[in-house]
Amino acid sequence: MYFGMGYGERLSDVIESAALSAAPRIVVNCREDSSVVDLHIHSTYSDGVDPPEALVEAAVQVGLKHICIADHVNACVPWLPDFVSHIRRLADQYRDQIEVLCGIETKILDLGGTLDAGPDFYDQVDLVFGAVHDIPTDEGLAAAREDKLSHAQLLKFWEEAFHGLLENPHVHIIAHPTAVLDTYGLNLSRTSKIRIARLARRYGKALERNSKYNVPDKEFLDILVRRKVRLVRGTDSHSVDELVRMNGGNRST
Ligand SMILES: [Zn+2]
Ligand SMILES: [Zn+2]
Repeated sequence: MYFGMGYGERLSDVIESAALSAAPRIVVNCREDSSVVDLHIHSTYSDGVDPPEALVEAAVQVGLKHICIADHVNACVPWLPDFVSHIRRLADQYRDQIEVLCGIETKILDLGGTLDAGPDFYDQVDLVFGAVHDIPTDEGLAAAREDKLSHAQLLKFWEEAFHGLLENPHVHIIAHPTAVLDTYGLNLSRTSKIRIARLARRYGKALERNSKYNVPDKEFLDILVRRKVRLVRGTDSHSVDELVRMNGGNRST
């Protein structure tokens, strides 16, 4: 089943209408059969290797119906206006075949949920992904610290930062929610998962079901579904090859 939208209903319309209320804007839920949606794709505007045109064309070829090109930003990137008009142009050009949204992926900088993006970025795009790429601590990012933090400390910082992301009003979707924990060999407790689900629900945030990192895990996913947290599908593809492969295509390029 494909939850949240009927056929012919455009994701941007759903976002648009919801935006009229004070509620957070993402209203699409994707569960098992969400294969026509991939909201997390990178292009040459950031660290992807293919331009938006090639990605959109590939997305059409593999049968996707709703995509979002969501490039990485930091607060200083100068290309956002060009990027936005470029993606809007493509969205228009392909509007009969696929819905193309424009997004950004921005990382958290501190425990309070501050994002690495310019204050005028958020209103320019359809979707804002918030991500924990490294764990913020009380003294900078974990990877930059010279002392070694215990697993318990890292988990505590991660959870505080994650709550900060959930509370940040600019964020629509949390990208690859627990992926950074795997890189530190950390496991999230069931209690923490329930706490996050409760907060996500309260703040109306969507969590990404990320096919590349296979997160959230089954237990977390069950908790999120049971608590009716919005889930959206993304692959975090950085190339046409990856996009085709992760979306079940067999086209070789
Ligand atoms: Zn990311
Ligand atoms: Zn990404």
